[in-house]
Amino acid sequence: MRQSQLFPKTRKEAPRDAESINHKLLVRGGFMDQLMSGSWTLLPLGLRVVAKINQIIREEINAVGGQELLMPLLHPKEIWSETGRWDKADEIMYKLADARKKEYVLSFTHEEIVMDLLRKNIKSYQDLPVSVYHFSTKFRNEPRAKSGILRGREFMMKDLYSAHTDEKDMMEYYEKVKGAYIKIFKRLGFDFKVVEASGGVFTDKHTHEFQVINANGEDVVYACDKCDFAVNKEIFEGIEGEKCPDCKEGKIEKLEKTVEVGNIFPLGTWYSERMHVYYTDEKGLKKPVWFASYGIGPTRVMGTLVEVSHDDRGIIWNPAIAPFDVHLVELPGGRGKEIYDTFTEKGINVLWDDRDVSAGEKFSDSDLIGIPVRLVVSERNGDKIEWKERASEKSELISTDEVIRKIKK
Ligand code: ATP
Ligand code: MG
Repeated sequence: MRQSQLFPKTRKEAPRDAESINHKLLVRGGFMDQLMSGSWTLLPLGLRVVAKINQIIREEINAVGGQELLMPLLHPKEIWSETGRWDKADEIMYKLADARKKEYVLSFTHEEIVMDLLRKNIKSYQDLPVSVYHFSTKFRNEPRAKSGILRGREFMMKDLYSAHTDEKDMMEYYEKVKGAYIKIFKRLGFDFKVVEASGGVFTDKHTHEFQVINANGEDVVYACDKCDFAVNKEIFEGIEGEKCPDCKEGKIEKLEKTVEVGNIFPLGTWYSERMHVYYTDEKGLKKPVWFASYGIGPTRVMGTLVEVSHDDRGIIWNPAIAPFDVHLVELPGGRGKEIYDTFTEKGINVLWDDRDVSAGEKFSDSDLIGIPVRLVVSERNGDKIEWKERASEKSELISTDEVIRKIKK
């Protein structure tokens, strides 16, 4: 893509009301725009990043047998009344009525909708297990939407739902999905903890949150400095500094704060009992379906990555989710068009700075946008290309073939 045509242009100043780093850098870099508090447009650069995040999630969820579908965002009141959540979740729901006074809610999650799908389609144990997911918008009336895209009132979620004949099958699948989540967050480049948290009213089991340490987070986690033991402050009953109750070797540290990027819930039969989702087992007995749900917020993931990976000049994307593979900066006398065409033909995604602006402006925009590799072509560099990684201060002059080899690696 030619940078001269990219919409919109970068901005020198962050918006005045921006408090968090992700808000400042993602708006300045032209990744997103705020319509109102908690409501964001994903601009072309931002949408590219989120699409890459989604693709990583999709690959790992497909690998554990998830089937992608797409559920509606406008839900009738009746379905939410069946579980009592129409009243119980009142505070976070955006409710509306049409001209004929029929009431609706904009989706804030989809358990009830999946339950309805299951009861129409599940008859016997032979129809189970089922594992379905979608990427879609969630609407939640968040009381304070101010940490940039980390907390939207309208945001993207990948939510997966699984249904099983019994608790054992549900828990086995739950562990599989936990493993898939660990792979996803590693591929996304996070340093994270898998944290036990409360199951709420739905289950006496614990849920698991995927938490990234960052000052802009809203959670506090107690974790062992040696093993994987980690518990949300909400339910932790010990103190900082004590011996780990799990491995009995490490010490408990307090991690403050953390951002929840994912959450998985072994829900059990709470929903199926209320919504009458039963199947018949081998002996012909009627039994409630066991149910679990699993969420990740790709837009929050994008914001969290910026929070943990930036410097005073801008964003530092990890290659797995960068909007482009390389940023080709053309200075006077450089072979921009030729290199752009060659790389594009080889399947490399190039942002080509073909603009008629100063070298200084090009370099500072390149640092702000944060594509992992910057390539400079200029008269001075001749046949060679200057290779510089965003995360490093070193640069080197190498041949076109060598550049291609390094990118493909
Ligand atoms: P929080 O405690 O941060 O309000 P939650 O526990 O209510 O989040 P879940 O219902 O567990 O959120 O949603 C699953 C995932 O969706 C979260 O782990 C997070 O990645 C994302 N998410 C939740 N709320 C928001 C939001 N307001 N804006 C952006 N992403 C969100
Ligand atoms: Mg949660």
